[in-house]
Amino acid sequence: MLAENPDPVRILADLIAIDSVNPGLVAGGAGENAIAQFCGRWLDARGFEVHRLEKRPGRPSLVAIARGTGGGRRLMLNGHLDTVSLAGYDGDPLDPQIRDGKIFGRGAYDMKGGIAAIMAAAARVTAAGPLRGDVLLTLVADEEYGSFGTEEVLESFTADAAVITEPSNLEVTLAHKGFAWFDVEIIGRAAHGSRPDLGVDAIAKAGHFLVALEELGLRLAQGPAHPMLGTGTVHASVIQGGEEPSTYPARCRITIERRTVPDENADQVRNELTGVLDRLVSTVPNFSYRLSAGLYREPFEADPQAAIVRALTRNAETVLGRPPAVRAEPFWTDAALLHRAGIPCLLFGVDGEGAHAATEWADISSLHHLTDILAGTITGFCS
Ligand SMILES: [Zn+2]
Repeated sequence: MLAENPDPVRILADLIAIDSVNPGLVAGGAGENAIAQFCGRWLDARGFEVHRLEKRPGRPSLVAIARGTGGGRRLMLNGHLDTVSLAGYDGDPLDPQIRDGKIFGRGAYDMKGGIAAIMAAAARVTAAGPLRGDVLLTLVADEEYGSFGTEEVLESFTADAAVITEPSNLEVTLAHKGFAWFDVEIIGRAAHGSRPDLGVDAIAKAGHFLVALEELGLRLAQGPAHPMLGTGTVHASVIQGGEEPSTYPARCRITIERRTVPDENADQVRNELTGVLDRLVSTVPNFSYRLSAGLYREPFEADPQAAIVRALTRNAETVLGRPPAVRAEPFWTDAALLHRAGIPCLLFGVDGEGAHAATEWADISSLHHLTDILAGTITGFCS
């Protein structure tokens, strides 16, 4: 077993150089195979028990465990190995560059920085010998697309708490929104363009729905707000309909997205949409529809008094010399999956910029701070 004190910057540079573009997002993307191999070897050499989960070939997730001596709490440290596209990156996205206290490259911020800090912190803490509780590193595939990596991990592993090191500028993230997708098919009747007596224009009927959808959005904006996340929102995202200029369109399909806040759920959202559509059935002549549900992901809200939230906050305060800010995010993350699996968790990660953008970097001092904060949290929680 190697008993050094690993440098997270060195690990991050190695991780940036490995292409791990999510092939769900970008056809032909490299996937997580090479990066999982690198992390697995690195952790194996430091005494971790490494499990490779790979239900989908080429899309592995890793679970690396430092077993405890028994009787302590189990802590999970979660991060995603995949990145968004390399295309459109300003310069070589796989060539880690260090300047002005920053490290540049695709994934530096979202979230190979978080992975590097997890690996360095866990290796540092456990090099001195096991704690009482298990430390589980879950380095997962596919967070940027369908999140099947964390889902696959949760089928076989659990813990008493988790920290997800998504970038958060060293602020404690305790909540985020969820989302629900729906397809609304407006049904008309096809007919030759010269026969309005026979045709029902599905596109024109869809116009009524779009206006009603915008009104629903305005009502939501005026409704009760979550203290950190505000209100839920709704928008149309895809529309398809019609065949050719001289035919009444028989169908118009609209995909909509409803972003949800804690205390809203998929059934409620379906009822809300059914209410809007049924009102159109009774007020607009020949209005007919079919509603089908697509992907649903729950919102996330941590208990601010949870042991892991208090432990991480305390360590952040010690390392940073001030209490960390508390925040919420509009976008969805794997935290919702852990929370639903009964694992209290929060998000806390590096400072930087450029998630999904043309230049991406992580602040090097924040990477060291994150590593120190995680090391203190692991020691405190699992001892
Ligand atoms: Zn991310």
